[in-house]
Amino acid sequence: MSESSSVGRPARAADFLPRTRPVVPPIHHSVTYFLDDQAYKDIQDGGLVEHWYGRFRNPTVDMVAREIADLEGGGAGFMTSSGMGAIATTLLTLLRAGDRVVSARQVYGDTRDLLVRDLPAWGVDVRWVDAVDLDAWRREIAGGPTRVVYAETLSNPQLELTDLPALAELAHAAGARLVIDNTFATPYVVQPLRLGADVVVHSATKFLNGHSDAIAGVVVSDDAIVTEVQRRVITLGTSLGPYEAYLVWRGLQTFEVRMARQTETARSLATELGRRDDVLAVRHPSLPGYPRVDVATRVVRPGGGGGAMVTITVDGGDERAHDVVRNLQIGCEATSLGGVETLVSTPFNSSHFSLTPEERRAARIDDGMIRISCGLEPADALIADFGRALDLT
Ligand SMILES: *Cc1c(COP(=O)(O)O)cnc(C)c1O
Repeated sequence: MSESSSVGRPARAADFLPRTRPVVPPIHHSVTYFLDDQAYKDIQDGGLVEHWYGRFRNPTVDMVAREIADLEGGGAGFMTSSGMGAIATTLLTLLRAGDRVVSARQVYGDTRDLLVRDLPAWGVDVRWVDAVDLDAWRREIAGGPTRVVYAETLSNPQLELTDLPALAELAHAAGARLVIDNTFATPYVVQPLRLGADVVVHSATKFLNGHSDAIAGVVVSDDAIVTEVQRRVITLGTSLGPYEAYLVWRGLQTFEVRMARQTETARSLATELGRRDDVLAVRHPSLPGYPRVDVATRVVRPGGGGGAMVTITVDGGDERAHDVVRNLQIGCEATSLGGVETLVSTPFNSSHFSLTPEERRAARIDDGMIRISCGLEPADALIADFGRALDLT
């Protein structure tokens, strides 16, 4: 290599920036940025400099956060390394030793572990209530120095809608913040911030990305809370990389058309499966017999349908449920949700395997439940696939 070689010299890269603006945004992979006088001044003033170092901020990542904040109707957003990154960073931002969290019992398994194992070790008092029991919420929130009230919009796997306006009222009366995981519903179905929630967290890995090809999370709230979360992301290191952010951005370009189609498919599949004698129960918030129809009327966005998740209970228990899933040809037997492919799982051996059968019953997880995340396949083909698998078992 000659002494004058300029390979890798950043100044060369600047020569190749286009004069015309690209239609598709570039992925900014640079970890570091040329510092000018203003940047040094900002650093010395202790402010969060626009772009300085990649763990603090990245233009591609910021762009995606802004887009999701707009979908949720929030003032600001910040992306994190995963959905758990969003949840853990938010809780560690809002809570101090001695505070109380009141959480719905029906939360994502790793969120439960965070609340059961980690937060109590840091001096946080965690209380559990059934998500649909407003009297229990009222009792536990009023019973101590509650700082955070935590729930998911739609419970997994029962798809019970949480009464967000009522919960926001209880939380705010106690001076607590309402934090909502909106992963299952998505802002297509429910926009929690418009119903009184203070913070929305997401596993952007699911419907927001939509293609099962990136792990990411996001926190949406007002400017003050998001700035505090951003400071914690810096010290905890839960930042998102630009390539994952780009994949989420790519997915977001079709978010509304995917959700419209997948929601319609979910409604058709639920309606058809509800006609079968060997299907004991079908859950989807758009069905006429949905048990929490009063809550749905208050929380579902006009035109939001009921989302792309359907949960059914088959006659024959978990063993038959598993056989049905094994016999699907279109539906994929896999964990996760929100992809363009239909993802199907049985709670007893996946999301809720660590619960005893008694604990599952107490959590209203029926013997024979199948959770379906409807994808973009033709609805007719998916309905036929489930019909065939049920007939075979
Ligand atoms: C998947 C999921 C999470 C965790 O998200 P990751 O991106 O896997 O960290 C949290 N909450 C809900 C409801 C989820 O489905």
